[in-house]
Amino acid sequence: MQRDTLEGRLRSAQLKVTAPRLAVLGVLSGHGHFDAETVFSSVSAALPKTSLQAVYGVLSALVTAGLVRKIEPAGSPALYEARVGDNHHHLVCLGCKAVEDVDCAVGESPCLTPSNTNGFAIRTAEVTFWGLCSTCQEATASA
Ligand SMILES: [Zn+2]
Ligand SMILES: [Zn+2]
Repeated sequence: MQRDTLEGRLRSAQLKVTAPRLAVLGVLSGHGHFDAETVFSSVSAALPKTSLQAVYGVLSALVTAGLVRKIEPAGSPALYEARVGDNHHHLVCLGCKAVEDVDCAVGESPCLTPSNTNGFAIRTAEVTFWGLCSTCQEATASA
């Protein structure tokens, strides 16, 4: 049933359904944010002929098709997630680089307006909140 859903998502984005695309989308549909190497190691058991390079290619096709969102927190490799279209934001831990989703209060982009647009037609505002997650706070407190 999940397979049908993943296939449906690929078809609705006008993408050909292929085993690597299904596998990558399947990994990303688990909750969270994954870098390309993690995706690669998760799919390589089922797809032994897949290379990291091929996974990058699949990820970039999925991002272009709007099925996957790519975020690039400073100091971390690019992360991919299947939660798209809700303009959500991210909390990133300065300690362990954990990434959590945080709902956008407005729900559509752009949810912030700059004090001066300089003539730009603003499309999106990407917000990253940096701080320490609760685990890292505890570690700091007990150290
Ligand atoms: Zn942390
Ligand atoms: Zn997210």
